[in-house]
Amino acid sequence: MEGGAEAQAICTSLLVKLAMRCNIACTYCYWFRDADVMKAPALLGEEIEAALCERLDRHLARHRPASFSLTFHGGEPLLFPKARFDALCGRLRAIEGRTGVALRLQITTNGLLVDPEWVALFRRHRVGVALSVDGTPATHDRRRLDFQGRGTWARTLRGLEVLRAGGIEPGILAVCDPSASADALIESLVERLDLRAFDVLVGDATHDDPRPPSVAAFYTRLFDRWYDELAARGVEIRLFSGLVRGLLGGDSGIHSLGIGGITTATLTTDGSLEALDVLRIAGTGRTRSAINVLTHELQEVERDPLWREVLEATRTLPSACRSCPVRHTCGGGHVASRWSSARRLDNPSVHCDDYKEIIAHVWRRIAPDLTIELPADAAAELPTAGPAERAG
Ligand code: SF4
Repeated sequence: MEGGAEAQAICTSLLVKLAMRCNIACTYCYWFRDADVMKAPALLGEEIEAALCERLDRHLARHRPASFSLTFHGGEPLLFPKARFDALCGRLRAIEGRTGVALRLQITTNGLLVDPEWVALFRRHRVGVALSVDGTPATHDRRRLDFQGRGTWARTLRGLEVLRAGGIEPGILAVCDPSASADALIESLVERLDLRAFDVLVGDATHDDPRPPSVAAFYTRLFDRWYDELAARGVEIRLFSGLVRGLLGGDSGIHSLGIGGITTATLTTDGSLEALDVLRIAGTGRTRSAINVLTHELQEVERDPLWREVLEATRTLPSACRSCPVRHTCGGGHVASRWSSARRLDNPSVHCDDYKEIIAHVWRRIAPDLTIELPADAAAELPTAGPAERAG
């Protein structure tokens, strides 16, 4: 990879694994590809929770980040007891008040266990909710299955209704199904469910996996529909907002695209502080770490070799990307999709060909709209000399 500066990066976000198990078994889940998941305690231990709060308090006081993000995750995080969730969030909000550092609390759920009590807790503690909904009933019920092999679309939608009835509009996370049409996804999520903010994630895969199916046709069609009609109706698709920001020279603001060091750590139920958790896709034990919140400060996660490797990999480009025309926007793709056992993170994304096609398509669509046509009289007032001539 290109050489990167060894500047210190403060950990500013934590995935907190409230539960290591799940109440459903999605076909594409990266989480259970790591057998270590089943060896860890099912729920975040009380002593781990106490250590987290103590360490976080010190971390914020010492490093004074502008904000800190905690995402409650699983498995399925709603397997965690409500009373303990209430107490944990209360402690976190007290830390926010004491340190003056804004805490962004979020939870990612499959929605099956959402009930009015959970909704009241989310509201009380200002916890943002991300709900996994895979686009259409057909896609969702083919991939998001319970342990009896039944689809979970109807039960997920009940969760959405309960959230909305309690005044929470969740962000929606779908995983792309390239065999389905983008039009069907829009019909389902926008026209039927009236969703205004969602993301469609590219499926997780590494270079050690069979070559994933192309997603370019799906995303170029989805972009066209978004750009031509949905954006004006106030619909946000996070990937496209990030992609356009990246093409205009800004920070994409998302992990899946662009260059920007990832400083997220994962807290597991036994207290381990690990690198980005989706790297479990690389196999059992890949994210195993000797850093533990019982014995280490949060910032000491930087001593974990994989955490450092991810940080450096996401601050730089894989060698093979250095001359790519869309490298500043793509950034080599999501860090987990770069993985191979042979070259670790020094590969272009497994979706490289698709990204080239999608980014070129988006640029072709937006570039003509970036030209400003001035009226003739305004154009006549523009200086014709360049800066050097004017200065002379
Ligand atoms: S499109 Fe491919 S070569 Fe270009 S930056 Fe992305 S992953 Fe690298």
